[in-house]
Amino acid sequence: MSNILEMKNVSKSFPGVKALQNVNFSLEKGEVHCLIGANGAGKSTLMKILAGVYNKDEGEILLDGESVTFKTPSDSMALGISIIHQELSLIEELSLAENIFLGDYLKSKGGFINWKKVNEEAKKIFSLLGVSASPNMHTSEASMGLKQMTEIAKAIKSECKIIVMDEPSTALSSDEVLKLYDVIKLLKSQGYTIVYISHKLDELYAVGDRVTVLRNGKWVITDCLKNIKQPELIHHITGRSIEKGEKVHTASTREELLRVEGFTNEKIKNVSFAVGKGEILGLYGLVGSGRTELLRAIYGADSIQSGKLYMNGEKKSILTPCHAVDLGIGLVPENRKTEGANLGLSILENAILPSLNSFSKGSFVNRKNMKIAMQNEIRRLNIKASSMDVPMGNLSGGNQQKVIIAKWLIHKSKLLLFDEPTQGIDIGAKDEIYSIMKEISGQGSSIIMATSEIEELITVCDRVLIMFEGKVIKEFTRPVEDKNDIMNFAVSG
Ligand code: ADP
Ligand code: MG
Repeated sequence: MSNILEMKNVSKSFPGVKALQNVNFSLEKGEVHCLIGANGAGKSTLMKILAGVYNKDEGEILLDGESVTFKTPSDSMALGISIIHQELSLIEELSLAENIFLGDYLKSKGGFINWKKVNEEAKKIFSLLGVSASPNMHTSEASMGLKQMTEIAKAIKSECKIIVMDEPSTALSSDEVLKLYDVIKLLKSQGYTIVYISHKLDELYAVGDRVTVLRNGKWVITDCLKNIKQPELIHHITGRSIEKGEKVHTASTREELLRVEGFTNEKIKNVSFAVGKGEILGLYGLVGSGRTELLRAIYGADSIQSGKLYMNGEKKSILTPCHAVDLGIGLVPENRKTEGANLGLSILENAILPSLNSFSKGSFVNRKNMKIAMQNEIRRLNIKASSMDVPMGNLSGGNQQKVIIAKWLIHKSKLLLFDEPTQGIDIGAKDEIYSIMKEISGQGSSIIMATSEIEELITVCDRVLIMFEGKVIKEFTRPVEDKNDIMNFAVSG
């Protein structure tokens, strides 16, 4: 294969930071090339130089073997390079179609914009990408996944050859990420060359042909993904390897709330650990490592073949989610659309359901107290809804998640199980959910959170257990300091 692009010895400094030092990066025609590195490694800067957003201090860029200079983004675009920035660039007030054709609306004679044609063309590109949504939709109403697809549509429309996606999966739900993989494969089959930036290893292996690792602004390695195993890749990313084999001991220093011993079923193997009162315990591991299954087993949603569970030192058997709820355990599931919420019911009904008994005397339901309780949570959690009677389905993902949390707070649950709590939720709501979790634990309730976001893990958790192939393989008691080791263990087992 021939190199469609070569970036040679590229350097770039910002005041006080050498963002890139003599970096080499090349693209073969038609490949999916992953660019990986820790936060601040220089990934976005390198691609912004390619996109003409930043000017390089030193180095050379060759496109199809010819030296080129990009002074502005339009120079780079004119040569067939399209970049989908980490912070998406769609204009919220316009429709999706308008965004796709922004700047060069298809004009009919006399300079009038042919809206019909704009919409038709947008629809064609959408159907090519397998997107069924209407391009007439207002951008502010589109999900993150749809916005991402609109950015891709915009790139294709501009007749580019190289598409750079900067951390495209950050705000996507797991379904949307799978959809994105399909679209990447499709684009590849049509001859596009793609740069895929991420810091999530499983994504690279799912889509990538080759990988380039940057660390502290320096090029580390470029290789075919099939030649390079995950532990080695992590070693390149973090610059260190670690010793393993310490004994896993998972006692909490706090007063114990929950203890499980030897939990085993098809998906989890002999898992034992305890959670203290007011503690936030993180479960980290790759997709498929058993995190979700462990939460579901504790919640009684999946059965166990063997194992014991203690709440406040008393042995309990939880056979169904109802048992769990009665014991003060609440689950905030991974897929809130299908498991956590009834989208057709009002947010009040969603939040009050498990607590109906406590608001009823005989057949008399005290709606007034119910509403007071809900109003308190709406205020405390900053739930944005026009009233408590609106259907759950009308709320944004972040607000739906808060209603599910409200449900367990109204029920005065002592242990909340969060499964990927911020997946598909925008950044602002994410931070709010982190503060809510801290508030809940500050009031003495406990949390177990499964996540695949390392930043989320170390921001929120007091202690972290690593799961690998259904087992708990390691405990970390200082998540912030142990960040690199945590990543290493999670992927290498
Ligand atoms: P990555 O995308 O790999 O997380 P970046 O390319 O965004 O990394 O950043 C590389 C380094 O350059 C970081 O130290 C970052 O703080 C710095 N940097 C990036 N953009 C700017 C900017 N516009 N001004 C100053 N420093 C910047
Ligand atoms: Mg970046």
